[in-house]
Amino acid sequence: MKSRTRFAPSPTGYMHIGNLRTALYEYLIAKRDGGQFILRIEDTDQKRYVEGATDIIYNTLKTVGMNWDEGPDVGGEYGPYVQSERLSLYQEYAHKLVELGGAHYCFCSKDEVDEQKDDETNTKFVDPCKNISLEEAKKRVLNGEPFVIRQTINKKGKSLFNDVVYGEIEIDYDELDEGVLLKSDGFPTYNFANVVDDHLMKITHVVRGNEYISSTPKYNLIYEAFGWEPPIYVHVAQVMKDAHHKLSKRNGDASFQDLVAKGYLPEAILNYIALLGWNPGTEQEIFSLKELERVFDANRLNKSPAIFDIQKLKWMNGCYIRELDFDKFHKLAEKEYAKFLTKDINKVELSKVLQPRIETLLDIKEQVMFIEELPAYSKELFVNKKMKTDVEIAENSLKLAFNALEGLNVWTNESIFECLKGVAVENGLKNGQVLYPVRIALTGLETTPGGASEIASILGKEESLARLKKAI
Ligand code: GLU
Repeated sequence: MKSRTRFAPSPTGYMHIGNLRTALYEYLIAKRDGGQFILRIEDTDQKRYVEGATDIIYNTLKTVGMNWDEGPDVGGEYGPYVQSERLSLYQEYAHKLVELGGAHYCFCSKDEVDEQKDDETNTKFVDPCKNISLEEAKKRVLNGEPFVIRQTINKKGKSLFNDVVYGEIEIDYDELDEGVLLKSDGFPTYNFANVVDDHLMKITHVVRGNEYISSTPKYNLIYEAFGWEPPIYVHVAQVMKDAHHKLSKRNGDASFQDLVAKGYLPEAILNYIALLGWNPGTEQEIFSLKELERVFDANRLNKSPAIFDIQKLKWMNGCYIRELDFDKFHKLAEKEYAKFLTKDINKVELSKVLQPRIETLLDIKEQVMFIEELPAYSKELFVNKKMKTDVEIAENSLKLAFNALEGLNVWTNESIFECLKGVAVENGLKNGQVLYPVRIALTGLETTPGGASEIASILGKEESLARLKKAI
């Protein structure tokens, strides 16, 4: 049988990196054996609903190339794929579960439940309605009394189940609470909807955060009551910011969108998160999605929490930037230039010097601001032992360079370079004694993206001469 996996995000308006990683692992498990990857929108918690959130889910998955085989927009045999459109199904199955003894009607008010519960002492709610006979309860339901459907857990002893990542898991039935499966407004809770949907959609593998492990025995009881086969469970460890803190929304670096806004490429983000909690068993670190489809193996998922290492992502992003086709890089860079650069300069040349030098697209601004406005600099910058220059030598070289460049008609990196080299030779100077002062005069900076001739070609003749003049 081919695998069928599902990504089941709640539309919260935000694609957390941990969720995207779950989606990726689901996708890879399905693609490994030519199976199907399904998108299901879990919107039963109407309080959390955010307008436009479904589009963020669609766009993120499409941007990284994880296309789904079934889902709300593309349809499929097992729809609808939006939970709020499946309410009648949950209701039908919830009532069926009551008949099967896996759940019961509960007429307690919220206050009655709250009164009994005590989170501090971990006191569970003991439902008096469990003692009402089914016949009596059904009468009350028919009479229009408000009710919820609660899970019934009568089992004692240990629940055992197997997880691909964590192995055999044992949880005492006593630890499980008899939670609500169907609310009084007819909406299911996650604890019920996930089971009904995963069964009806013929899901073979469920990948989700390990915070769901402790509830899994409850889901297994529901599968058992219906006589359904539970899926293969793949619980994955949390993504952490550091040893003690989860990667959270508040820090502004936990979502796919945050990272894209910080200048990371979608392909690099995807590659990086694949390795957050999984390793290929080789030294290889750079993987395209297609390659991951071939090599991914859920048995190599890690039990311990993964720490999100932004430095590592930066490094990886730099690798991806360098590998981009120049035209593609230039297009991305142009979007950044548009944010702050008003000067009419040679942008193609600029992109050429930047591509090998930056790690994120936001580095562009930092590297390029000197073009927009020449920073104030001290004459001391012209003193450089290695280049054998000092303030005096620099002044002389700059004058000579200015005169030579003023007469130069073809303004390219090569022609400027030859011209400046010519100045050095004709005047008995070392190349560095001309090139270094020119670079400083053009940029006002000690480290720059590119050498003197590259920067002059980017700035154009007029601006370059104006900056040289200023320095003399
Ligand atoms: N809607 C759940 C969430 O966003 C999905 C959990 C699951 O994959 O079962 O956490």
